[in-house]
Amino acid sequence: MTDTPSFRSDMTVELIKHSASDTDVLWAARVSTAGEQSLDELSKDPERSRGLLNFLMRDRHGSPFEHNSMTFFISAPIFVFREFHRHRVGWSYNEESGRYRQLEPVFYLPGEDRKLVQQGRPGKYEFVPGTPEQHALVAKTMEESYRQSYAAYQEMLAAGVAREVARAALPVGLYSSMYATCNARSLMHFLGLRTKDERSQVPSFPQREIEMVAELMERAWAELMPLTHAAFNANGRVAP
Ligand SMILES: Cc1cc2nc3c(=O)[nH]c(=O)nc-3n(C[C@H](O)[C@H](O)[C@H](O)COP(=O)(O)OP(=O)(O)OC[C@H]3O[C@@H](n4cnc5c(N)ncnc54)[C@H](O)[C@@H]3O)c2cc1C
Repeated sequence: MTDTPSFRSDMTVELIKHSASDTDVLWAARVSTAGEQSLDELSKDPERSRGLLNFLMRDRHGSPFEHNSMTFFISAPIFVFREFHRHRVGWSYNEESGRYRQLEPVFYLPGEDRKLVQQGRPGKYEFVPGTPEQHALVAKTMEESYRQSYAAYQEMLAAGVAREVARAALPVGLYSSMYATCNARSLMHFLGLRTKDERSQVPSFPQREIEMVAELMERAWAELMPLTHAAFNANGRVAP
């Protein structure tokens, strides 16, 4: 563990464990008509399978998309996790503790491509690029503030103050880490709200940083369940 603050602009998303494939949706759906033979049906007709996935997505028959599991390791700033943990249904979380360990001084700085200036009304903001001066100001001010608050945290720890008390001095730009487990249905609901995409039937205006996490999660999921992912996109990116 280092006491020297470091700064990053990226997010970490690692798919560490999964049991998730398009066929998991198919056998769950086909029990309706094939009973215990539903597993045998899988390899029969790929075109029918694609059609069934599309039908389930379009008509919002959601439960067959729940018979799978993905566990992600995610490292992101605390303000991202505050938004993330609002997703209650079909998610399990475990996050590192600021009570049981000293928090590491890793802090978020917006990257050069992060649009800095907000325009428009609440719920329909547009973001436009910042000037070089605004970027320089953000980097300088945040770094100074992060260094100061981490020094204050360390000072209190050195004086014997409990970690759970001293952490109150730390900002929401501090990186945290967690495991998040979900299924395809809960992930689609999350993606529908936390990504901006032209194919979305219901547009959302997510904060860029949680969208960065969502994009990495979507990439991993699309490799596991390509047909389900395609049906999600084809049906307006609305979770069934
Ligand atoms: C762009 C954006 C801006 C936001 N701004 C704010 C904000 O300013 N302030 C703020 O507090 N939050 C804000 N949120 C968070 C938002 O209100 C939701 O809490 C979050 O998106 C999780 O969505 P959810 O409740 O649908 O998900 P989940 O909690 O995963 O729930 C999934 C679904 O289960 C059902 N459900 C879950 N719980 C209940 C329940 N108790 N009763 C009935 N049905 C239930 C609903 O159908 C729900 O859609 C924002 C979210 C987004 C995407």
